[in-house]
Formats: sequence, C-alpha cells, structure tokens
Amino acid sequence: MAGHMTPDEFRRHGHELVDWVADYWSSVGSFPVRPTDPPGAVAARLPDRPPAEGDGFAGLRADLDAIVLPGMTHWQHPGFFAYFPANTSGPSVLGDLVGAGLGVQGMLWATGPAATEVETVMLDWLASLLDLPERFRSTSAGGGVIQDSASSAALVATLAGLHRAGGGTWRTDGIGGSRYTVYTSTQGHSSIEKAARIAGIGETGVRQIEVDPATLAMRPAALRAALAADVAAGCRPAVVVATIGTTSTTAVDPLPEIGRICAEFGVWLHVDAAYAGAAAVCPELRWTHSGLELADSYCFDPHKWLLTGFDCDAFWVADREALVSALTVMPEYLRNVATESGAVIDYRDWSVPLGRRFRALKLWFVLRWYGAAGLQAHIRGHVALAQRFATHVAADDRFEIVAPHPFSLVCFRLRAGDAASESLLERINATGRYYLTHTKVNGAYALRLAVGAPQTTESHIDEAWSLLSTAASDILADSPKS
Ligand SMILES: *Cc1c(COP(=O)(O)O)cnc(C)c1O
Repeated sequence: MAGHMTPDEFRRHGHELVDWVADYWSSVGSFPVRPTDPPGAVAARLPDRPPAEGDGFAGLRADLDAIVLPGMTHWQHPGFFAYFPANTSGPSVLGDLVGAGLGVQGMLWATGPAATEVETVMLDWLASLLDLPERFRSTSAGGGVIQDSASSAALVATLAGLHRAGGGTWRTDGIGGSRYTVYTSTQGHSSIEKAARIAGIGETGVRQIEVDPATLAMRPAALRAALAADVAAGCRPAVVVATIGTTSTTAVDPLPEIGRICAEFGVWLHVDAAYAGAAAVCPELRWTHSGLELADSYCFDPHKWLLTGFDCDAFWVADREALVSALTVMPEYLRNVATESGAVIDYRDWSVPLGRRFRALKLWFVLRWYGAAGLQAHIRGHVALAQRFATHVAADDRFEIVAPHPFSLVCFRLRAGDAASESLLERINATGRYYLTHTKVNGAYALRLAVGAPQTTESHIDEAWSLLSTAASDILADSPKS
C-alpha cells in the first residue's frame, strides 16, 4: 500500500514534472494546435476504474504524453489565434506551485493573513500599474479582490447593484415583487445575462442597448432612453455593464457619457474589461479607461492577456462597504477577534465562494519577474503583431477589415460573402498550424485573429497571412462569380 509521498519523493517527481512542462513549452509549436481525434478518444485511453493499489508515478509521465497531449487544444501554441488568449508564464506557474504547496484557505484574514494581505497589496499594485482611479485602491473607500473569472465579477457587481437599487431590501427580501433591470450593449458578454438569471432577475429584465454600427460601441442616448422608459414603467434599474474591449470585436463603450447617465439615474456602473484591460499597462492605450472614475466596479482578467495562468480575474469596487454588506453572512463558527475588530479584510465577503486559494502569489511572481517594463513590452509586441496582420489584410482588396482593432484582435472577412469567409476559416484551421474562430459583425460572418500567446512572432503572422491568402485564391477560383 502506498503511503504519503515523502518530501524527498516529491522533490524527485516534482523536478521531473517541471522538466516535462519546460519541454512542453519548448516543443508546443510543433504540435497541431487542435486535436484531430473524435470525441471520446481521450476517455477511451483511460482505464475505466482507479487502481486498487497505488501505482506511484511509474508510467505517469509517459501517460501524459500518450493520453493527454494528443487530446489537447494548445492555448500556448504560437499559432493559437482563437477566442481571446489565456496566456501563462513560468513565474505564474511557479507562483501557483507555491500556493498549492502552502494549501491555505484564505477565506478570512484570520485563516490566512499573508494570503489576504498579499492579495490586497497586489490589487493595489495592479491598480497603479494600470493607473486606475484612486477610489479603487484599498487606501481609499474601495479595494480589489481576485475572482475566478470575469463572469463571477459580473455576478457580484450585479448583487451589489441590486443591494443598492433595493435600498438594502434585496439582502433581506430578495427580488420580492420588484422588477429589477440590467443594461448592457448588444455586444455585452453572455456572463451578464447569466448573472441576471442567477440573481433572480431573469432574462426578461436584461436590456440590450443598441450600438453604433461603425464602432460597435454602446449608444449613450439609447441607454438613457431605456433607463427612462423602465423607471417610468416602475422598474428598478440595478446595474449597467459597460465593456472595454467587447468579446466579439474589442469595441470600447464611451464611459464618460455612460458614467454620467448612471450617476443621473443612481445606477451601479460595472465596467467589464476582461481581455482589453491589460492593455492599460501601456500609457498610450489608457485612453480606453477614460471615464472609469465614474464606475462603481471594474474588472479585467490577468489570466487572458497578462501572463498569469487561469484563474485570475482582478475586480475592484469604489465602495467596498456596498459589496460587503450585500454579501456578508456571519455564522457563529466563523466569528473571530480580527473580524470583529473591523481592522481586517475578509475576502469571503467579496465573492460567492467561502473558500479561496492563494492566487495572489502568481500575480506577485509575475509582477516581480516582468516589472512594468516587461509587461508593457509583452502588450506592445502583441498589438504590433495584430497591426502587422491588419496591414496585410488591408492591402488585399479581396478582404475587408470589419471593425476597429486598437488591441490585438483583428476581425476580417472575404468581400465575397459569408460562405466564402466560412470556408476560409475551415481551410486555415485544417492546416493544424493556426487556429482562428469567428463572429458576426452587423449580421455578417467574420473571422477573428487574436494574438496573445507568448511565443507568437512576426513569422507566424506572416505565414498565417500567406496561408489565408492562398486559401482565398482557391475559394474564389472555385466559387461561381456573383
Ligand atoms: C472573456 C470575457 C468574459 C468572460 O471571462 P471569464 O473570465 O472567462 O469569465 C467577460 N467579458 C468579456 C468582455 C470577455 O471578453
């Protein structure tokens, strides 16, 4: 019978697996970006029951190569241009390793003082790195917390907004007979509607505000009209979610106007910058955050584009009391002197789960390893690669760029139409060297190329373009002229 892994065994196996990850990163570019096996292939390679006796680590490394790798979509592959990136880095992985080894539950300050205080300071560091408004810092009335994802950030912002809109009655009575409403643009992320459903508002309480067809940004006048109509109809507007960098095309909603309207109606303004927020480490890209001083909460995902492995969403509120009073519940078994002194942060009151791991370590490791300069170089490099790709597309009149592209996402299509654009996506993905996904822009099919893997270089951009260009020639030669 196998007992616990001794520290010496851990050291040996740990070194082997660190080598395995390092080898993976060295060779990831040589794999097809996506697996070709049909569904069920990975499960079929696993035994159907666990071993009766522990079999230690014998063969485990070989099984990772034989069972796991062939079933992987390689998000760190230099040809991964799908969705948005989920990049990671050596310092992030090592920070996670230390956090896993410490195995702490940082639900209360008292259950993990270092987990709590490092997190508070890291969120303040990030706020200064992005030059966020003072009101979000822990030194003012606000503060930051790590959520698992931007979806959870949207949920807790919605709950805080409900608490405010109900004048504190939501906490005791729930939705009751009130008709609460939530606002985002037609381009807002699906997590906003999901948050409204979980909160009990339901999708009929969600208003999708129209956007400008050229910029795909929310129209402030349409937001004001929707709010006024709902108030006149007896609804209680709970939260407006504005987006910096929409998922479809990276559109930027006009925060200064939206913020003024929210102040006029007394509605909680949450700003979702899940992907594009990271760009604000570069002063030349901070224009996107103008008006953020009018927001009640803000989030972005270091786990998308800031070299910090999933999961790490950074979420800030301007008034921490508003969030804590919406979420806090104090059972007897959690009572403790530090909490009662009022001098500490208990992060359990800032998010849905009670338990929380020490995710601030990976942020600390990343921020110390790269520094502001290293992170700026990372973002600037990707923005430059995306602009290089856009230049290729713009110079070819068979193609068109369908949306502004200030960050590292370019949305484009074949002028020949939806069917041709759809086959273009199939062909580029069938090469196994690149992986792009699609969206619809003003009703038309468009390909998305999102740069974000640390290993992507100019030669990948140029090769992807040359494959796309050749595939376009084939498609246009095959299709009847219209
Ligand atoms: C990716 C994305 C989300 C969801 O992010 P998770 O952290 O995976 O929940 C939310 N909003 C926007 C704008 C996004 O691009």
